Amino acid sequence: MPSQSPMDIALSLAEEAASHGEAPVGAVVMEGEVILAAERNRMKALNDPTAHAEMLAIRAALARRGTGRLDGCDLYVTLEPCAMCAGAVAHTRLRRVYFAAEDTKAGAVENGIRLFDQPTCHHHPEVIAGLGASRSEAMLRAFFQALR
Ligand SMILES: [Zn+2]
Repeated sequence: MPSQSPMDIALSLAEEAASHGEAPVGAVVMEGEVILAAERNRMKALNDPTAHAEMLAIRAALARRGTGRLDGCDLYVTLEPCAMCAGAVAHTRLRRVYFAAEDTKAGAVENGIRLFDQPTCHHHPEVIAGLGASRSEAMLRAFFQALR
């Protein structure tokens, strides 16, 4: 077992994102006990609005796995995935999604379009919400308060 849980690693990456002026979101893809990828938001650094932590982690995990799928793998992310990232989860067939804080504004799993519940979504990962939520919420609150 790694000394830190996957969500702890994702939370540390979120912290690192904030220290670089990026919205604090971190994501980790696990295959069993193995960390396939660990990423954070890099939208500003890459000038890429699609460079969400989940997208970067999913792409890195795909590159490492080399099968074109992430079936049997789990995503840990500090904020509820948006529609784009939830779409990427469905396309790559991740087994489980653990997310920390809810995102009532841009979330697409338990808020908004609830992508995985749509009849046009053909993959239904197991979703576990709330792990590490208070730490993630505090980080997000502090980051967006500082922007005002
Ligand atoms: Zn996203």
